[in-house]
This record gives sequence, structure tokens and C-alpha cells, in this order.
Amino acid sequence: MKGDRGEEVVLMLGNEAIARGAIEGDVKVATAYPGTPSTEIVETLALLSKDYDLYVEWSVNEKVAFEVALAASYCNLRSLTAMKHVGLNVASDPLFTSAYTGVRGGFVIVSADDPSCYSSQNEQDNRIYGLHAYIPVVEPSSPQEAKDMTIYSLEVSERYGLPVILRTVTRLSHSRGPVKLGPIRRSSKKAVFERKPEKYVCLPANARRMRLEAIERLNAVEKEFNNSSFNVVLEGESKVGVIACGLAYTHVVDALDELNLSHRPSILKLSTVHPIPKELLANFLEDKEKVLVVEELEPLVELQVKALCHDLKLKAEVHGKDLIPLAGELTPLRVLRGLASFLGVSVELPELKVKLQAPPRPPILCAGCPHRNAFYAIKMAVKKAKVEAIYPSDIGCYTLGYYPPFELVDTTICMGAGVGLACGFAKFTDKVVIATVGESTFYHACIPALINAVFNPSSFVLVVLDNNFTAMTGGQPSPATGVNAMGQQVKKVLPEDIAKACGVELCKVVDPYDVDSMIASIVEAIEHVKRGLGPAVIISRRACSLTLLREERLGRIKLEKKMVEADKCKGCMTCIKLVGCPALIPRAGKVVIDENICTGCGLCERSCPYKAIGVLRS
Ligand code: SF4
Ligand code: SF4
Repeated sequence: MKGDRGEEVVLMLGNEAIARGAIEGDVKVATAYPGTPSTEIVETLALLSKDYDLYVEWSVNEKVAFEVALAASYCNLRSLTAMKHVGLNVASDPLFTSAYTGVRGGFVIVSADDPSCYSSQNEQDNRIYGLHAYIPVVEPSSPQEAKDMTIYSLEVSERYGLPVILRTVTRLSHSRGPVKLGPIRRSSKKAVFERKPEKYVCLPANARRMRLEAIERLNAVEKEFNNSSFNVVLEGESKVGVIACGLAYTHVVDALDELNLSHRPSILKLSTVHPIPKELLANFLEDKEKVLVVEELEPLVELQVKALCHDLKLKAEVHGKDLIPLAGELTPLRVLRGLASFLGVSVELPELKVKLQAPPRPPILCAGCPHRNAFYAIKMAVKKAKVEAIYPSDIGCYTLGYYPPFELVDTTICMGAGVGLACGFAKFTDKVVIATVGESTFYHACIPALINAVFNPSSFVLVVLDNNFTAMTGGQPSPATGVNAMGQQVKKVLPEDIAKACGVELCKVVDPYDVDSMIASIVEAIEHVKRGLGPAVIISRRACSLTLLREERLGRIKLEKKMVEADKCKGCMTCIKLVGCPALIPRAGKVVIDENICTGCGLCERSCPYKAIGVLRS
């Protein structure tokens, strides 16, 4: 990744290729909130920050990430912000207005969409944001294009004064492919902000004019896209055409090879999907009798092609989502099926035989995860307080509290919604409400909802599961960590200080490994909210078990592992049923503990009715 290595070809993840494109393209500022499948872009740039005098930050949420990168662009620095698809919803407020103000330094917004919801709460096609917000959208089809189109997007953005959305998808972000490196040209540009209130202040009088300017800029980009070298026509031998967008192009090429036709259709590989290059499309469609648009998720291009055919009175019959699935990730097989049906050929679909399959593994909290202890304590506290409860939760590892044995997650909507919904549930029902959020999510989107709970009095328990970083995306620092993306030591921002500053009266910090004290604190919080005294916040603080195991491997700490005494174990499985820790393994009618992943949290020990679990003495 590092260095000017001539035209060397390197195997790279799509996300790493985008990061390399940012370096080659002279990006000076990169920001993000971690979110699968986009995380590795800024993670890679953070590692390179010192080598290339690059400012990199993990922002508290995508809106802030967007605004920091936009400010850099206003100061004539090239910048990039990356987020998963739902992150762009959070950033959509400044996104729309950024098209009005326009930008100065090239500004690229990477939207990493997640068809099939591999790690997301929904499936959305963010190319549509471009249409709605008057922002150009480009869609690479390979890691090579991901790198090259990052540079191209920066250039287009700077030339036409508009942000550009670079849309990638999980399959591209997380696939490796050969990437030919290019020269690294780092300028010595310094940030300069020129005061131009008429350009940057979106008062109604300015905004009305700005909207017209945004439309003009977009029209100019359309002319550019008509001649973009990333849009390629491969002439075929029939009057049939296929328009393939982004990654779908590679599936189309594979499917056509599989079909082995006597007359191959023409292909338009379309990489600039908004504004749609009408001239290029009109030329392609002119002599076609029928055309299939292959794109992942929404019929964004299909609808525009149909409109174009209508406007230009072209006779091509346009197909798309009637043959290509609307929901879920496109796979070579799904495209092959759609293409075969479009071409009217029968095809023997290859049987997918996988010889070795990983054993099915339900999603589960890691062994020794402090969240497991926290959920256990919540369950015991609710039992002890003899109340019925509702459990709104949020996005993060703790969403796994949904599964048995805990089943303490009733809602998961989006970042921060756990606390917002808690405000409502506590007002509109007579149940006790116990919300769970991670500390990273707390900073991201929970603070306004917590202020709301104090301002519009709502009494619920909020358990902030603080494991000292953003665990689900691989351990990026959060404001509680005390270190930032570039490795600088910074002041810690603690959730308890924020909660108290918001006006929360009952706020306690507990260690979830000290289960009794945590149960007592939650019972106290339940009593507090039952009396209608406003929200009560419990900070459950203990480092992620992956950190504990790593620290142990490095010899920095010693964990007191547990073991099952075989002669005392009755094989009742109570430990597994109550605790569900993956380090507890049923074997020959009894249970053993995998000491490689046990952190010695002690939760199973307290659950065993026969006192069969104790400290491992090696
Ligand atoms: S002590 Fe028990 S519950 Fe805790 S990590 Fe070890 S096996 Fe799992
Ligand atoms: S709860 Fe105790 S006795 Fe029962 S299976 Fe687990 S270790 Fe054995």
C-alpha cells in the first residue's frame, strides 16, 4: 500500500484500493464512523496518516464525519468521507445542502451499500441519494476501478464543484483483486478558507439561486460522463443489448461466457450512473431491439433508460427488474438466470456443490464478553424487582442479546433509536423500560435522546455497555478510549460525565464482572424510574474480551481461567442454558471449558448449582 512503486500490481481489497486512490489522488482529510462494509477504507488511511501528512479521524457519527470532510473541501483541500449505506441516512442533512453550496477541493463520499443485509438492519440502494440530492454517482466494478474511480471522482468533483458519491457494495469492498498502482502525487496545499457568505450561507434567498446552480453543475457533469473512459461499449453481433452497472458488469461477463452464445449481445458497461449519460445511452440504444439493464437493488438506471426511450421515441424494449431480482445481492447464478430468460435460451444451471462447509454457527456474544454479564445482571435484576420490562436496544455487538439465553432485545431500528424509543415506551406504557446501547453508539446518536428524556420527563433505565472501543467493526477507538485514529493520546470523554451534564440524577459506573453489584445497581435504577424520577444511567464498564485475551497473549495481564471439575459436574447443562458462553462445551454428558477463549469472568461459576466450576490451576 505504501510508496510510489511504479506500475506494480498488488492484490488489494476493494476498500484498500479506495484508500490507495485517495493517497494517489492527493486527499488530505479522511473521516468516517466505522461501519461494515466501509470500515477498512479509513482504517487503512489511518495507518498511512503519518507517511502522507494526512488528517484522519473516526468521527462520532457520519454527519460529523461528513461535515469535517466538507469543511476541508471548502478550504480547498481534497477530502473523503466513507460510511456504510445507513450511515448516509445520518449524514443526509448536510449531504443535500452540500450540493447547493458546492465544494472547492475534490470531495468524495463513499457509500458502501450492503445488498442482502449481511451486517445491516436494512438493504438500501444509495445511488438514489444522488438523484434526490443533485450529486453525481459513480459505481466501480472491480478493485482496480475502485482505485481509479476514486481519483476520477476527486477530479470531477473539483472540476465541477460538486461532491461525488462513489458507491461500492459489500462484495466489491471485501473482495481482493489485482490493482495496478499509479504515481503518488502529494501536493503541499494548505487549507485556505475564503469568506463567501453568499456561497456558503443557505438562507432562503441564497438557497433558491443555489438550487439552479446545482442543476447547472449537474448538467455539466452529464456532458463529462458521456465521454468518461469508465463507460465502455463492447459491440456484439446482434440487436440485443445489455447495460451492466458497477459490479453487475462482472456477473454479466461471466454469465455470457457460461451461455456460450452464437451471437453475443452488445454490452454497455455503465460506471457513471447519475447523471445518466443520455447521449452515450441514446447511441447505444439506437439500433437495439431489446435491452436488459442489470443493476443491484433498485431500478435506478432501468427507469431512466425507459424514460429516455420514450422521450427519444426509440423502439428498444427495455427489461430489468422483471428478470433481475429487486431484493438481495446479485450473484453470478441470479444474473445467469435473468440473462438466459432475457435471451430466450435454456440453460442448465450449474449445480453448486460445496465439498467442505463450515459448521452452522449462530451469532453469539464472544466468550467472556462483558455484555453477557451485563445482560445476565439485567435479567436477574428484573426478576428480583418483580417487574415486567421492555428492552429497546441499538446497533452493535449487544444486539446479540436478542438471542437465547437472554432475549433482552425487543427493538433494534438504527443508531440511537434505543434511547429515542425508550423515551416513548416509558411515557406510553406502564412497563419498566431498560435500554441497552454501546458507548460508541451512545456518542453517535443517543445523547440528544437522553437530553430529551430529561427535558420531556421520561423515566427509563439506560445501560451503556462500555467496552472501550467500537468492537463490532474491529476495535476502532471511541471517545472513551483516550487515543484517536492517528494514535495520538487524547482526553477521554466519558459517558457518565455526559449523562450527568444532561441532567441525569442517578448515574452509576459498574464492573459487569462484579455481577452482584451490577444487579444491585440495576435494581436501584428500576426503583428510581418506577418512582418517575427521570432516566437512570448505568455504565457497565469492562474491556472487550478480545482485548483481554490479546493483553494476556502479550503477557500484560493474567486472567484467572475457570475449569469444570469433572467429578462434581452432574451434566445438568444449567451453565450452558443460563450463560450460553461459547467456552462452555458439552462433552460426554458433562461440560468442559475451552481455556483458550475463557477470560475467567466467573459467570458460569455462579450459575452452577453443584459448585462444579472453579479456578483453573495449571
Ligand atoms: S468464566 Fe465461564 S462464562 Fe466466563 S468466559 Fe470462562 S467459561 Fe465463559
Ligand atoms: S451447571 Fe455445573 S453441573 Fe451443570 S453442566 Fe454446568 S458445570 Fe456441570
